[in-house]
Amino acid sequence: MIIMQNSSQNGETKNIDNFCNYVLTAYKDKFSYSCLDADNIAQQFVKYFSFQYPLNFQQLETICFASNIEIETISNTGASRGYNFTYGNEIKIVLNGKDAPCGKKHTILHEIYEIIDYKLRILDFNTTTTTRKKKISEANADQFAASVCMPDDVVFDWISINGFDVFGLREYFDCSYAATVLKFNDVVYHCTDRNTQQPISIISLLYERPYWRKGRKKTPKLTLKCYKKSKGFPFGLAKKGISKIVFYSPRVKKDLKINEIIKAFSNTKTHRLVKNFTLKYYDISMKVDMIIRTVNWLGYEHTAKILVHVAPSSNPYFHDLAEKRGFLVQDLEIIEDAKL
Ligand SMILES: [Zn+2]
Repeated sequence: MIIMQNSSQNGETKNIDNFCNYVLTAYKDKFSYSCLDADNIAQQFVKYFSFQYPLNFQQLETICFASNIEIETISNTGASRGYNFTYGNEIKIVLNGKDAPCGKKHTILHEIYEIIDYKLRILDFNTTTTTRKKKISEANADQFAASVCMPDDVVFDWISINGFDVFGLREYFDCSYAATVLKFNDVVYHCTDRNTQQPISIISLLYERPYWRKGRKKTPKLTLKCYKKSKGFPFGLAKKGISKIVFYSPRVKKDLKINEIIKAFSNTKTHRLVKNFTLKYYDISMKVDMIIRTVNWLGYEHTAKILVHVAPSSNPYFHDLAEKRGFLVQDLEIIEDAKL
């Protein structure tokens, strides 16, 4: 059990109303609702409630309890993952009982942000602000939830100790694969290699199989869920550009595209390091290593998710990880053997 400090030294209850006043005080007379940034609110939120990491659901329940917010879990929340509403003096957050624990954690933080956002708008006496557009406030709430679950400095410390192990990172923080991949790359983007003082260059690509619809017999194809590229590559990479990347090795008869690599590994359970081959992107070519990691649903032959990491071979970040985690270390021709 995690011991939580629920009151500050002066005995003030740590709840959402007091947090909003704390934010207001922090900004002094410069507070403006229209300038609030979800990441900044998340940092102050983490500091104010002195969270322990990895964050668990109980820590969030404690805040809701102290804030007079009721949490209800129902079996069907319809199209949304959760919602909140006010009746009289009471606020209620409704969660989807079918969601995994990490999904519930994300949803409750999403709803807490919306409650904070609403309260801060009312507290802003300086400007005549209106409510945020739905799309913006939803994106802000998701950003807040991700930043509170995985604060940059806690993620940085974890990576410094454990290396570029995204699956391990996900397990530790108990967040979704996509959120972890995005957060991992965000943190790495701002780091430099301690030895070379160069940026840490990693491309991350996460492929997922969409969920089966009832009555559908065919297994859905693995599709790109999210991707990120950090600094240090001699090219930019838009989503359209991903299909233009090819991989090449003198012993492989043809250039391989990323979707051919995904297909080759679409029913494997083995994590691999494929090392020292050429990445070509238009007229640019560079020597790279690639990590391929898979997620398999229990007893099902097809891979549910594939994470591909690409990094220049000049920075062998992945070799330590492969050794520590016992990955297969292979050359690119293994992909030809997989019968494309
Ligand atoms: Zn929402």
